[in-house]
Formats: sequence, C-alpha cells, structure tokens
Amino acid sequence: MSYVVLARKYRPQTFSDVYAQDQITKILKNSIEMNRIGQAYLFTGPRGVGKTSLARIFAKSLNCVNGPTPNPCNVCDNCVEITQGISSDVVEIDGASNTGVDDIRDLQKELLYSTVKGKYKIYIIDEVHMLSKHAFNALLKTLEEPPENVIFIFATTEPHKVLPTIVSRCQRFDFKRFPTETIVARLKYICEKEDIEADDDSLFLIAKKADGGMRDALSLMDQVIAFMDKKFVYEDVLNLFGVVKNETYLNIFKNIRKHNAKEVIESVHKVLENGNDIQEFISGMLDFSRLILLEKIGINTSEIPKNLKADMSELAKSFEENSILYLMSFLIKTKSDLKLSENPMLLTEISFIKLANLSDLKPIDEILNLLKNKPNITSVAPAKKKINFPPKYVSEPESKPEKILSHKSLSSESNKIIKKTAIDSQINITEQVQNESENYAKELDRNLVEREWNSIIEKIKNEKTIVGGYIDRMTQIENVSKKQIELTTSSDLAFKQIKNSQSIIEDILTKHFNFKVHLLIKFVKEKKVEKKIDVTLQEIRNKAPNIADFIDVTKSFISIK
Ligand SMILES: [Zn+2]
Repeated sequence: MSYVVLARKYRPQTFSDVYAQDQITKILKNSIEMNRIGQAYLFTGPRGVGKTSLARIFAKSLNCVNGPTPNPCNVCDNCVEITQGISSDVVEIDGASNTGVDDIRDLQKELLYSTVKGKYKIYIIDEVHMLSKHAFNALLKTLEEPPENVIFIFATTEPHKVLPTIVSRCQRFDFKRFPTETIVARLKYICEKEDIEADDDSLFLIAKKADGGMRDALSLMDQVIAFMDKKFVYEDVLNLFGVVKNETYLNIFKNIRKHNAKEVIESVHKVLENGNDIQEFISGMLDFSRLILLEKIGINTSEIPKNLKADMSELAKSFEENSILYLMSFLIKTKSDLKLSENPMLLTEISFIKLANLSDLKPIDEILNLLKNKPNITSVAPAKKKINFPPKYVSEPESKPEKILSHKSLSSESNKIIKKTAIDSQINITEQVQNESENYAKELDRNLVEREWNSIIEKIKNEKTIVGGYIDRMTQIENVSKKQIELTTSSDLAFKQIKNSQSIIEDILTKHFNFKVHLLIKFVKEKKVEKKIDVTLQEIRNKAPNIADFIDVTKSFISIK
C-alpha cells in the first residue's frame, strides 16, 4: 500500500477530533442542535489550523443521513463521499485557481440545480480572498438572495482582503494557531498509532518548527519518517531541519556572560560553517534568550528541554533581568541590520563581540537616579581629572566579582578589536575613563569630549591663546552630537572671538579626533549653571546610548512572541 501522508490520514473527521478550536466547534454544534443554520460562514485563520477540515465536518453534520446532527456517522454514503471529496452536494472550490467572473457565473448557474442526495448544497470556497473583485461582486449577488438550502463556507488566511460586504453577510469564526503543547500531544498520539519511536525533544522540535500549524507539523513529521523511518533521533532531526542545538545556544550565552568573546565567536563560526542560516541563527538566539527571560521571571515552561533545566536556571540567575532584555533588543536590531548588510558575516561577528562585551545593565531607576544626582556635567568638565562619582553610584548593588569586563584572556589583537567595537558607554564610567587613552572612537559622545576637553583646550591655546582662554573660562559644553560640539557662552566678547576663530578650532578638533568635527557656538543671556534635575532621553543617550536604545526598543517589545 502506498504511503498516505499523515495530514490526510489523521485529518479530523468529527467535531471531537478537532483540536484547540473548542469555541468554534461548540457554536457550530449548538447551531445544528438548535436548527439555526446560517447561509454563509467565514472561517479565518493561519494555514493548517483546521479550517477546511472543520468545513467538511460541518458539511457532513448537515448532509449525513442522520442529519442535521452534531455527530455525523462517517459511514453513510453521504459522509463517506464528503470525506473522500467526491460528494456532488459538497463543492470545494479553490479561490486561488478559480478567480475569474466566469467561474462564479458557472457557480451561479450550478446553484439552480437542486441537491442530489443530501439536504443541503454546500460550497466550500478556500482562499476566498484570492477571488478577483468581479468574482467577488458576482458572488455577492448570490449571497444577497441565496437559493434555499444552499450554504457557503468561505475560508481565508487573509480576512482583511475579503470585501466587507461579504464579511458582513457571514457568520465569522477566527481559528487560532495550535499551542505547541497541543501539537506535541497530537504527534505523540500519532507516534503510538504508527509505531514510531520518538523522544519528546524531537516531537517538540517538530511542533516548534510548525509554528502553530497542525498540517505543517504533520508534513514535517512525514519528512522525518522519510529520513529516519520509525525511530527518530533528536540529533538527526536537528540536522534535518538545520536547527542549531540548544546546547550551542546555552554555550554561547554562558560565554557572553563570562565576557569571553573568543569562545563566543568560535561558536558562531562553527554554527555558520555547518551551513546554518544567519537570520535563523539570530532568531534562535532570540528564542533562547526568551527562555532565559521566562526562567528569570519564574515562568515555568515546558519549552525548556528537561536536560537543560538546571543549566538554564543557573544561567538565568547569572543575568540581570535588564541585561536579558537588552540582549534581546540588541539581537532584534542585529537581525534587522543584517537585512541591509552587504557583509552579514562581519556584522554578525561585530555584534557578537559587542554582546560579549556588555557590562551589566542596572535597573532603569538606578540609571535615572545616577543621572539626576551626579555633579553637573554641563559645565566645562575637567577632563584629565577623572569624573569621580560618589562610590555608591558605581558600585554594584550586590557584589559579583566577575561583573566587570575582563579581556585578559584575549590576545592583544582581539583586545584591540574589542575596544574598537565595544559599546563603550555602559554605566561603568570609571572604567571608561581609564580605557579611553587610546582613542578608537568614530563619533563623538559627551563622555569622550569631556574627557578630552582639557587637552583640546591646551591645543587651542597653543594656536590662539586668547580664544583658548575664552573657551576654557567662559563656555560650557551644551550639547554633543556624533560630529558636533555645541558650546554656549554668556559673554558677548567670548562669543565673537570664538566665532571668528571657528574654522581654526574646528581644524584642531578634527585633528584631535581623527574625523571631521563641527563646532557650534551659541550666545545665551544667562549662564546656565543650575543643577539639572529632569532627565531626557537625549541626556541618557549622551551618557549611555545603550540604555537609551534599550528604552527605545522596549517600547516595541510587546510584539515579540
Ligand atoms: Zn453519515
């Protein structure tokens, strides 16, 4: 006997076979029991969630010799013919291939003939949104005055593309994706029936890959059977689907946690050398970080494989909640950057080195506090003096010895790359001050300018003593953007002097930073020296772009599945 694909073999045949669409089956069964059968139904939902299966079961309920009944017998001629798709009273039309007006005209003509055996003539039109506008209009005419005992069941994956005038004439049912657990349970049942030996992890992987579609899950299962016959081996299933092992993700995250960039990059290389797609790999990283997050906030999920439970819990403990969220937002950004990148490999490497270099994030409250309470940074900062905050702002809330970045284990070459690419504006400001002696920056930020300010002023004084003096004593750094420093002064004289020497100062700045820097000098009436209390996102960005990015990204976080 030839192989019958599982999706067909295990297609639900009764209402009780239909999984996870309880609400819908209940309403349909009730309407049959109460003899309140509508003339048009619209089944919407993603592919493979049982729309046409349920349409057929509904058709059987209506046309079974015992019908209308919520429990079609499945053995009478009518039931059997519907199951086999050969009933002349149940017409299945694929909207995708019958889109023309003529097809609908044929349909209208056909509606004139009465039923052959059953009580109802039922038209199941799949992918109804694919019908052309003319076809829709022709259909609408039929819907306005449907012949007696004719029932339409429309199915669509894209309900927004169906004309509202049609939708409004239908009883609408929205089908949901199947939860992974439901799919796993169904796969287990099938394994039993088919004598298949499969471990939970394999089945879980199949269910996960099917993304809520039962039909997809069964087709994937067909694929696995074709390769492995009746004994599933998790490793082989992973390879077949080109899925990166959970252990690999775990390992990468552990090394990110340890700031071990070398190991992280080696793992990434291995994954990509195995032919895995970069985008899918990053998605996998995201999925895995989601599991760490769930574990962190104490949500029990069966998605974490049993053998990894202990490791996961340990990993979750080692991360701050904010760090996980930040990691996730960073991965999301990397994923979208990759789409535009001409050198995805390089971008991936840089991104993972950055990830390995993230020092710990503090709770947002703490950061805001820090910005509120620290000494006024808008005045000209004494650069070579370190910006020494009171110890309480730089010390960690709990003492964890490995919290500070350590690049010691890396070669000096890797160290250079890391310094170049490291996100250098974490809150660990003291560390930054120490690191910045070698200047690898490609754009300005406030920290950088403040640290370098004294030596810049020295250079200006060497060229233009008086102007340098004005800048030193009578200006403050108002704003720093990527390529521009904005100074303010309340002295009319200083303003004019600096303005006149603007290009010379810009040359000095440009030489100092190794990239084109613009200077903007503004005259303000009163000197702003008061301590700033309100913190804007821009200020957070100046101090810690990562945190600002994070705040930005978290706004859209709800959309992550
Ligand atoms: Zn029957």
